[in-house]
Amino acid sequence: SSETANILEVEHLSKRFGGLVAVKDIGFTLKPGEILGLIGPNGSGKSTVMKLVMGIERPNTGKVVIDGTDVAGWPTAKIAHQGIGIVFQHSRPLHRQTVLENIKLALLPDSLLRLVADPSVEERARAIAKRVGLEAVLDRLPSTLPFADLRRIEMAKALAREPKVVLVDEPFAGLTPREVADFSALIHGFREEGRAVLLVDHNVKSVAALVDRALAMYLGEKIAEGTAEQVTRNERVREVYMGG
Ligand code: ADP
Ligand code: MG
Repeated sequence: SSETANILEVEHLSKRFGGLVAVKDIGFTLKPGEILGLIGPNGSGKSTVMKLVMGIERPNTGKVVIDGTDVAGWPTAKIAHQGIGIVFQHSRPLHRQTVLENIKLALLPDSLLRLVADPSVEERARAIAKRVGLEAVLDRLPSTLPFADLRRIEMAKALAREPKVVLVDEPFAGLTPREVADFSALIHGFREEGRAVLLVDHNVKSVAALVDRALAMYLGEKIAEGTAEQVTRNERVREVYMGG
């Protein structure tokens, strides 16, 4: 409901790379259990917004307020600790570690890595693996797995510390229709668990059924905001997608 407090508030966020303004004065809010779609053609600044929220890039201006605390400019590990998890478009597991070991490592802060043999850590890692559909491949090395399973590992790592907000970058790129359905259900499950989701996709149509609201970007700027239907129909959005 409208009385629920925002879990994430982004205000006046901007980022320059040399002479290029990649993100210009972007703002949005997210409540627990809400999915916001961030859409726009390639190069619009969507991934940069995610990286700014997560502290992977430092903003030039703006606030990133998580649960009442402005974390803009904080290091990534500290921002993660505030309750945000990120699912990158391109997975980067540790290739010499099994799937289970990769998930176990994500469960532990760096200072506690000696606990990796702890049976309760093993149990939690197995539970998360099951949640994302990796239970059959726990002992495999990532290099032997299909593409979709690598993205499942990213999902598992993002979920490891039970984040209140999940940032997901282009989760459907390169997947089969069956896998798209699986991942949609998984992301819908995040919402059911009360997490807030920022779902980045270049195409609003592919996420329309999943999102509560959408925000469209083009060349770093917000060009439309509203329901998926409103954004799909927006004249400016149609223009930029037709290259006109
Ligand atoms: P999207 O995810 O919407 O495709 P990005 O956020 O990846 O867009 O990129 C937005 C713009 O910023 C692009 O023009 C891209 O080339 C540029 N950009 C992104 N990251 C960097 C960087 N680290 N250094 C320089 N330019 C960058
Ligand atoms: Mg991107």
